[in-house]
Amino acid sequence: MINIGLKEGQDYLQQKGMKDLDTHDPELARILDAEVGRQHRTLSLVASCCAVTPRALAASASALVNVTAEGTPGRRYHAGCENVDLAESLAIQRACELFDAQYAGVQPHSASSANYQVLSALLKSGDTILGMNLDHGGHLTHGSPVTFSGSYYNAIGYSTTSEGVIDYDQVDKLAQKHRPRMIICGATAYSRVVDFVKFREIADKIGAILLADISHIAGLVATKRHQSPVNVAHVTTTCTHKQLAGPRGGLILSGKDANEKVPGMDITFSKALQKAVFPWMQGAPAVNAIASKAAAFGYAMSPNFDAYIERIRTTADAIASAFQAKGYDVIGGHTENHTILIRLDDNITGAMAEEALEQCSIIVNKNRVPGETRSSFVTSGLRIGSGSLAQRYVDQEGCYKIVEIICEVLDKVTPIDDRKFKLDELVKENCRKKVEALCSSYPLIDYTEQQDQNM
Ligand SMILES: *Cc1c(COP(=O)(O)O)cnc(C)c1O
Repeated sequence: MINIGLKEGQDYLQQKGMKDLDTHDPELARILDAEVGRQHRTLSLVASCCAVTPRALAASASALVNVTAEGTPGRRYHAGCENVDLAESLAIQRACELFDAQYAGVQPHSASSANYQVLSALLKSGDTILGMNLDHGGHLTHGSPVTFSGSYYNAIGYSTTSEGVIDYDQVDKLAQKHRPRMIICGATAYSRVVDFVKFREIADKIGAILLADISHIAGLVATKRHQSPVNVAHVTTTCTHKQLAGPRGGLILSGKDANEKVPGMDITFSKALQKAVFPWMQGAPAVNAIASKAAAFGYAMSPNFDAYIERIRTTADAIASAFQAKGYDVIGGHTENHTILIRLDDNITGAMAEEALEQCSIIVNKNRVPGETRSSFVTSGLRIGSGSLAQRYVDQEGCYKIVEIICEVLDKVTPIDDRKFKLDELVKENCRKKVEALCSSYPLIDYTEQQDQNM
């Protein structure tokens, strides 16, 4: 039996766990260690990635994980919930403060679950939804047929123009024509500001519900570097593990509409949203993750978080200009957030670029581009994000060096077919060394503490 004495507390739990893995489960311990090594030795330019804050990580691994707490604070189906009630109430209160919301649901296990819950709370199966096409930067859960959103609902998609900007006229026309019950905005591969006010105007004209999904830009929204949809859309969702640097999880928010009746239903938005999470779709919440969300929201209100999100913006601008200086087509000509979309040369596909770069310790995503002719498994572009580089305090010079390496790899790739390619072993080794040097110049440190700024 493990004796978890009060004296040892949290430290004991966490240290003993790591020691036990080392001693009794070396197979898993090696995998976990190797991943720490991989993250230190590679440069991640994946737009959705960032490292969790130490405090959110610690809360995730806390003793709250032992508590079953079906229900909501003060209304549980289990006893022994006094501390998890406090943790969940704190997470809710901080989420409301951070995002200026009236309602916050902190129990969703992920943003995809949150979207599923919102749709099932407010729609009937077969209702029409209007979301951004996956090919144009939308998320799977905004109407793709491989998810619930495109198979339980009649999903219509809107697109971006050839400049990579949402075609608001088309959104309006499709809304008039199909009269969806819900319009979904927010994107997963989009480098421009989303005009939530315009979306609400379009929704109001036809009495539709507006859902904004800010998973990718939650940090920019929280620090007022992007307009907030919370008091514009009826409902806002986000994950907590991208710009918020919290645990893997979801968050549902509602602002001024929280206590309004859902159109055509005898229930308010906040009540409908709560019921759709528990008991409709989830059982007991992951209360350790909820405590971790509270830690993330707390940190997100600090000046250091503000400085970090500012670095995300300046780093993204530096990367975009570095690519343009190298003659690459940055879709839309610039970025207004953390994402940079690159159109590759005709003979290079996204799939081969992604793999070639990974072989050189640079991690990116292949991505579709406006006017795409290739499948989503191949694509003609790359999606790059600045979140992880901002956590490493990579300055402008560093950004130029990284882009230089990326361009060198892309120049030296010889395509065989859509996915296969040849890349000289010496080139790979040379690039890996350069990346390793950059990784030690810009080490993964505790970015939550204020560092000397180089930029
Ligand atoms: C990442 C993302 C999601 C999914 O988040 P998970 O928590 O991984 O399910 C949903 N919507 C958008 C717009 C995203 O970018």
